[in-house]
Amino acid sequence: MSQQDCSGCTDNSCSAKQKKTGESEEHFHERQARQERMCRIKRKVMVLSGKGGVGKSTVAVNMAISLAVRGARVGLIDADIHGPSIPKMLDLEKAQVRGGYKRNSILPIDYSKTLKIMSIGFFLESGDSALIWRGPRKYGLIKQFLEEVEWGELDYLIFDLPPGTGDEPLSICQLIDDMDGAVIVTTPQDVAISDVRKSITFCRHLDLPVLGIIENMSGFVCPNCGEVTYIFGKDGAEKMSKDMQVPVLGKIPIDPGIVSNGDSGKTFVIENKSCKVSEEFSKIVSKISEVLEK
Ligand code: ADP
Repeated sequence: MSQQDCSGCTDNSCSAKQKKTGESEEHFHERQARQERMCRIKRKVMVLSGKGGVGKSTVAVNMAISLAVRGARVGLIDADIHGPSIPKMLDLEKAQVRGGYKRNSILPIDYSKTLKIMSIGFFLESGDSALIWRGPRKYGLIKQFLEEVEWGELDYLIFDLPPGTGDEPLSICQLIDDMDGAVIVTTPQDVAISDVRKSITFCRHLDLPVLGIIENMSGFVCPNCGEVTYIFGKDGAEKMSKDMQVPVLGKIPIDPGIVSNGDSGKTFVIENKSCKVSEEFSKIVSKISEVLEK
């Protein structure tokens, strides 16, 4: 869809055109502004995890870049409000957010002409600043990211979420009617896997399709002898996938380069084009686009 706002759209059945019963004028205009922006984004995907530290942000960034490498126009929202790590991971800590072309709008940060990014991290005084916010303020911020950021036309908008099933994923599902699905990241260990079940249950409660599970830190290949050591266990995602009937989209091995690239603000899949990790990301995004672009 290429219209700039609802006025050029001929879909008269669209809910953005009709005020809901009991809806205030203000809420109607806000919802319309949001739907107008979201309508220009073809697919919206959340990256969730049951536990912290399993590599969710790493997966979200590398997935977003891998989609862009295939030619897709991609946006990435760092919705981890208490622990935004995307600015650091992409060496964008000094990036300045600028006002947009419309009143009260802002421009997303451009990452190497590859990704459009928004994160609360761009608004904090320093990397040490902490936000002590309850649910309603977090909801308000996410709403602003959806309504006020000039995303333009995108093929994918990826949401990197904090671990668990709290305010942030719930707010996004409430604010976007047509969320396309969720990707769940886990390590193979039992304690992470049991939390993934909760994420799947959460998605099912909200009628959000689970596109699949990504098993991260899935074995370490010794660079000297090639022997694989399963540091966090083996086949955890496979077992759970059978139990819960969700596909495994891919398995990302442990690679020390992911840590050093992340810490130095480089993206692994760009720096290391032909290696097992990058190939796996490429297969993962192929599977996701196959399902969503049908
Ligand atoms: P989360 O978003 O789930 O908290 P991060 O993406 O921040 O997790 O990753 C946590 C740490 O693990 C980071 O230091 C990251 O570089 C590292 N990491 C993630 N995936 C891998 C991997 N496959 N191999 C090696 N290190 C990884």
